Amino acid sequence: MITEGELNPLRVANHQFNQAVPFLDQFKECTGMREWLFEPEQVVRVSLPVRMDDGCVEMFRGYRVLHSNARGPGKGGFRFHPTVNEEEVRALAAWMTWKCALVDVPFGGAKGGVACDARLLSEGEKARVTRRYISALGDNIGPHTDIPAPDLYTDQQTMAWVFDTYSMMHPGENCFPVVTGKPVDLGGSLGRDSATAMGSLYVTEHFLELGGLPGLTSLKGADVAIQGFGNAGRWAARLYDDAGARIVAVSDSQGGIFEPGGLDVKRVADHKDATGSVVDFPSTKALAPREVLEVPCDILIPAAMENQIVESNAGRVQARLVVEAANGPTTPEADVILHDNGIIVLPDILANAGGVVVSYYEWVQNLQNQQWEEHEVQEKLKKKMYRATNVVVTSRAALVDAIDHYRAEWAVDHPDESPLDAPTIRTAAYVVAVGRCVKTLMERGIWP
Ligand code: GLU
Repeated sequence: MITEGELNPLRVANHQFNQAVPFLDQFKECTGMREWLFEPEQVVRVSLPVRMDDGCVEMFRGYRVLHSNARGPGKGGFRFHPTVNEEEVRALAAWMTWKCALVDVPFGGAKGGVACDARLLSEGEKARVTRRYISALGDNIGPHTDIPAPDLYTDQQTMAWVFDTYSMMHPGENCFPVVTGKPVDLGGSLGRDSATAMGSLYVTEHFLELGGLPGLTSLKGADVAIQGFGNAGRWAARLYDDAGARIVAVSDSQGGIFEPGGLDVKRVADHKDATGSVVDFPSTKALAPREVLEVPCDILIPAAMENQIVESNAGRVQARLVVEAANGPTTPEADVILHDNGIIVLPDILANAGGVVVSYYEWVQNLQNQQWEEHEVQEKLKKKMYRATNVVVTSRAALVDAIDHYRAEWAVDHPDESPLDAPTIRTAAYVVAVGRCVKTLMERGIWP
């Protein structure tokens, strides 16, 4: 039985980080290095009184965590979700740091959130929560310090309110670069809306081309199941379908649908728009929300939330490849089970980094008052994601080659512990990302 504590995303983030430590020499030389890298730079907690439509006042709790600005200003979305708390936001902020380092964009990591159920808020209430949150954060965000973006249950409209609120507080400045994921007519970038899913597709496509999954070299004809029908999941269904894959199952928070012959993705999206859910789409088998993770398929894309593939259901995953479009969908216990069952995981910090890559392009366009063509954005995104995939695959191969060396070192320092595991793709990605952050910290030194 997994306890709530074990499902704490911060525990998961810390475990994943610790897996990389034995492969990085700098941690041996300096005892404070682990904390320096993992602890957040700043945690801001805000209380948000908001007038509701019925005239009453409700109090919301908001957070913004700047995990690291070693490689550039903090970057990361903010979410509206009932599970939001300080530890979750800290984990998500750390994941942003590693993600930005891995795809090599000049940002650190940050994240924010307001604990609320966005589905129960009217448009006006959402606007007031957003505006109060941004004004309460004040200059803890800024175009060169910490730049928010969309995440769960926040979207282009939310980012438009962020931009407007911040602009009102900073008249006469170019405020476009304070937030990314804005509407295209308000400084947003073409290609940002689809970027998370597009990035995951590029990573998957290239990983298959590199021979990462024996017997499957392209997306054409591959069976794909997707958990989540928000921004990432919905776009993933469309883009993987366009790339020739067969989308056999999708789900949202209310339930899922399964059709082994392949779903008509466009009609499913229309059904979701009309009814608010993918559930009850005609001529499909109904699934409970998490059952979508267990359907027979080649590629499983968790595109919803943290802690979805856990110890109790990991053994029932039938996919051969898991592509983490969500942040933190797999717990460490589940990772071990998937690995033992020969299932490969393309980790979140690689597979969902497309969003922040195009956020970076949006920020650059805003700073320069430019508008790039969509094909320019796509070409740049593809290059970035292919390069990051190459680096991870190559780094894993090098670490596996040198495993005897790392095991010998580990045994000397940890004589009572079990031998060091060979690195997974996730650990290899962490070694690259954390290694880059360590390097920058050492180059910068400690001020003053
Ligand atoms: N919320 C997204 C993520 O988790 C996007 C972050 C951004 O664009 O800054 O990667």
